[in-house]
Amino acid sequence: MFATPLLLAALLSAPFATRSVVPIANTNVAIAAVPVAFNPTATARARVTTIVVNAQTAGTLTIVVESERGITIKPLLSDATVAAGSEATVTWDGAGVVDGEYAIHATLIHATGVSSEAIVAVTVDTTPPIVRLAPVVPATTARGPVDLRASASDITYLRRVVLTIDSQLGKRLGTVPMLLGDDRASAAIAWTLRLRKRLLLPGVYTLTTTATDQAGNVGVSPPRILRVQRAVRNQAIYSLRDAGPVVALTFDDCIRGSDWLAIIRAFKAAKAHTTFFCNGVHVRSNPDAARAAVAGGHTIGSHTWAHPWMTRLSAAEQNSQIAGDQEIWWQVARVSPAPFFRPPYGDHNAVTRSEAGKRGFAYTVLWDVDPSDYLNPPARVLVARVTQNARAGSIVVMHANANTAAAVPALIRALRNRGLEPKSLDEMFRTRAFLTPANG
Ligand SMILES: [Zn+2]
Repeated sequence: MFATPLLLAALLSAPFATRSVVPIANTNVAIAAVPVAFNPTATARARVTTIVVNAQTAGTLTIVVESERGITIKPLLSDATVAAGSEATVTWDGAGVVDGEYAIHATLIHATGVSSEAIVAVTVDTTPPIVRLAPVVPATTARGPVDLRASASDITYLRRVVLTIDSQLGKRLGTVPMLLGDDRASAAIAWTLRLRKRLLLPGVYTLTTTATDQAGNVGVSPPRILRVQRAVRNQAIYSLRDAGPVVALTFDDCIRGSDWLAIIRAFKAAKAHTTFFCNGVHVRSNPDAARAAVAGGHTIGSHTWAHPWMTRLSAAEQNSQIAGDQEIWWQVARVSPAPFFRPPYGDHNAVTRSEAGKRGFAYTVLWDVDPSDYLNPPARVLVARVTQNARAGSIVVMHANANTAAAVPALIRALRNRGLEPKSLDEMFRTRAFLTPANG
């Protein structure tokens, strides 16, 4: 049952140093327990251990559970008559015992009075592993690989360790199995940023490690941040027609924090998410609203540092406009506006897209519905302009100003009445926004 290297590891490595049950095998009586670790309080698998004893000679069989010190704590089978070559099966539910290692002790007393014994160790483990993910090395990368190392403390071995990659808003992008270390209390991977054969796009990501122990208990590490930065191909999009009956309402500029916060509150009340394209200068002056947008699960994109007509600037100036917005989002909220970039006034050309691509933005996000909300129309006019023009997959350009903020609850209701659900760009793209596009 126990291979020698495993037994050695059990005796030598720190998490298992307290083990003292020494297995005994015997030619007359053999014992096996499956699984060798279990959680009596679990609701699904591994709630009990099943013990099978083979008797090679006839006699009476007794099976008990003993503590590490050899004290019987639970009889499982008492003086049962068994024939030669027979098999006895019992289960132990581990009820009422503390976590730790126990001995299942089988004693076969032959007709001659001679007894044979067999012992197998089982572990009761109701506690999830305490998992830690070491800082990502390097913390910023273009294409990886990044070295990820996890360690766990638990009274049993780890069975499985998985790395989970989430967007900065907590959207699950995928998982990658990590390679278990020889000690089976740690795991590592040199990850190449690939998920489902696609490469992670530039941006900020959250990594966690999930470890499953032998008893099926699951522990999750605190998160680590990974920044991905490299040049990508940028494509302009005006709508996302294959996204289904959803509409992306988007709000630009974010000049006043109170208007920005009012929109965040309206979407929270409506249980929906939206997208903000704010200028760096306004992110800097409204850091609380900026952080509230991220905490609320809303997509953020870049709208440049200071709202210039981009095509009137040199390539280097355009690049620096985007870089400034990127940097302030990192400083204020440890997030990235990538992969979404929206040029002020929609003013862009090939140079703009190229510079946005160099800064890691895969999408120049324009729009197919413009209700001219900057002219402050009455709410019912604004709502009518949007609902009359929006269709499945539309992107609506608006501004985070007071007049528009006041119209948001009515706008969301009106869209829903027409069977269109407001979504953030993250939600509309699903995981696609964070992995290389098929043509990129
Ligand atoms: Zn703007």
